[in-house]
Amino acid sequence: MSVLIKGGRIIDPSEGLDQVGNVLIEEGIIKSYPKTTAKFEKDPNVEVIDARGKIVAPGFVDIHVHLREPGFEHKETIRTGCDSAAAGGFTTIVCMPNTNPVNDNASVTEYILLKARTEGKVNVFPIGAITKGEEGESLAQIGEMFEAGCVGVSDDGMPVMNSKVMRHAMEYVKAFGIPVISHAEDKNLSGHGVMNEGEVSTLLGLEGIPCASEDVMVSRDITVAELTGAHLHICHVSTAGSVRLIRAAKKRGVHVTAEVTPHHFTLTDEAVNQYDTHAKMNPPLRSEVDRKAVIKGIKDGTIDVIATDHAPHSEDEKKVEFDLAPFGIVGLETALPLSLKLVEDGVLTLSQLISKLTDAPSSILNLNKGTIKQGAAADVVVFDPKKKIKVDREKFHSKAKNTPFDGWELKGEVSHTIVDGRIVYSA
Ligand SMILES: [Zn+2]
Repeated sequence: MSVLIKGGRIIDPSEGLDQVGNVLIEEGIIKSYPKTTAKFEKDPNVEVIDARGKIVAPGFVDIHVHLREPGFEHKETIRTGCDSAAAGGFTTIVCMPNTNPVNDNASVTEYILLKARTEGKVNVFPIGAITKGEEGESLAQIGEMFEAGCVGVSDDGMPVMNSKVMRHAMEYVKAFGIPVISHAEDKNLSGHGVMNEGEVSTLLGLEGIPCASEDVMVSRDITVAELTGAHLHICHVSTAGSVRLIRAAKKRGVHVTAEVTPHHFTLTDEAVNQYDTHAKMNPPLRSEVDRKAVIKGIKDGTIDVIATDHAPHSEDEKKVEFDLAPFGIVGLETALPLSLKLVEDGVLTLSQLISKLTDAPSSILNLNKGTIKQGAAADVVVFDPKKKIKVDREKFHSKAKNTPFDGWELKGEVSHTIVDGRIVYSA
């Protein structure tokens, strides 16, 4: 089956493309941009998608997803996580290694890839652990995981507290041309904190996590990246301090890239009021000063990409006292409408936003995705940026419903998601 996407505004930042036109997909690849469509529309073997008034772009790439399988299938599975990604317009996702067992050796990597190939609707690339069991002590089997298909290493969920271990990891990955991906947090400063340390935590009587907990580690990791010359990627930037440190490091020529989540540029710690466990995540939602600094970092390019940190948990796990609830929220199905707000607010152009969701994340991990140039795999999203939607968590394709955005009225609806030429989602 071929697919013709007709009359949409085609935006592909990887090609500097922004024009109204048609896209023809044949045998899983982007075949051409035909000027006229009559011939294809008469062909019964061509499925026609009317994209007039909509955006046609490379499928989104999310480099920070927790698929929970193996080990936590009650939260999410590779199958449901991929379903959720497709519904959100993502055609490629990168999954973090904090499963059970941890993805710290090639056999787990191979298991994830096999499952993804047989059950997943979208492309899945795994990230391997930095240290065995994410325990922070000795290096995981990075070489064999790279051979098996891992595109980066991270102990996400946990920081690597030992600077010497971090140094060894950075020295080691250079041979493979992959980044060390840092969950930047000083566990000692975080203590038993459950939200941002500030006025709101004081009012609520909850233990806080200071911004310094993140800033100290971002600083340490940048210093070690400078020492080793390795590529450092900083996850889920949440503080003004991190933005400042990354901006300065980039200026000095340090090979550092950074991501931000939609929740960190949308919400502040005020969302924790009423002890809503759907506003509990790590790093925590910060102050308005931090949120504004993060947005400035997005605008000036200090922050390279948007990633969701999709972190599914079951209802039972989140329906407990704030102190006891696990950190994290789902993000794949709300990322586009929340991110489009950056365009509405004049922070980014639509093309710049799409870049932060496509070619920019792809290039950080050398995925060779995030483009719809002729001959590329036909991974495409079609969306209506103006369509009003109301977030309804009951309609999520994810197994998990843990979102603070339920009931929010936003703009932006994915109408079609296409992976390798197959329509894997349509609204
Ligand atoms: Zn993390």
